[in-house]
Amino acid sequence: MPLLGAAAGIFAAAGSLAYAVRGRSSAVFAPSVYRGDRKRRALALTFDDGPSEATPALLEILAQHQVPATFFMCGANVRRHPKVAREVISAGHEPGNHSDSHPRFDFRSPEFIYGEIALAQETIVQTTGAAPKFFRAPYGVRWFGLRRAQERLGLMGVMWTVLGRDWKWPSNRVAHLLLHRASNGAIFCLHDGRETLRAPDIRATLEAVEYVVPKLKERGFEFETVSRILCPRN
Ligand SMILES: [Zn+2]
Repeated sequence: MPLLGAAAGIFAAAGSLAYAVRGRSSAVFAPSVYRGDRKRRALALTFDDGPSEATPALLEILAQHQVPATFFMCGANVRRHPKVAREVISAGHEPGNHSDSHPRFDFRSPEFIYGEIALAQETIVQTTGAAPKFFRAPYGVRWFGLRRAQERLGLMGVMWTVLGRDWKWPSNRVAHLLLHRASNGAIFCLHDGRETLRAPDIRATLEAVEYVVPKLKERGFEFETVSRILCPRN
């Protein structure tokens, strides 16, 4: 693919291929957003890589605090846990598309990229009855063909303002990060599953969410879905 090679060469020469592919504010490969309005005292919690066996425990915590969230689901995990996926939607949360099998998109073909996202979209719609409007790229990696795939499926790309690192850090460190980095319009990225493993350990996520939500409410933040934080009038 000489064209792809040439374009990649230009980015690499400019020292910006890494940014174009993974930068949270990069729109080189496809339009995406990474935060809401800085004037509104609102935050969005997003959870990636589920649904999993552990998701119901998270739903319980969110229900206790009456906080809506957005769940970027993998199609393969929705097929593994269709009942949990439906519980997420019936609890009032918003679905997002996080690809089907959570591959890295760099150096993959446009057909592959479209196929991954389309299969996840179809699985989520058929299982839950709710159609995602947002797409989050696995590992935050965007690539050629993603723009067209998002257009065809009517999806807006969503990155994050704060990456929670809840898959590798203890809960107190995750909580500290979230409290420290909370700001108007911030989109937090956390995880209620793992792309491949079953029965993931998400205790750090659960403990961090349980600890920070009341604290952030005390500081005047409202919790919103991604739809709402990006488009408050809708
Ligand atoms: Zn992911």
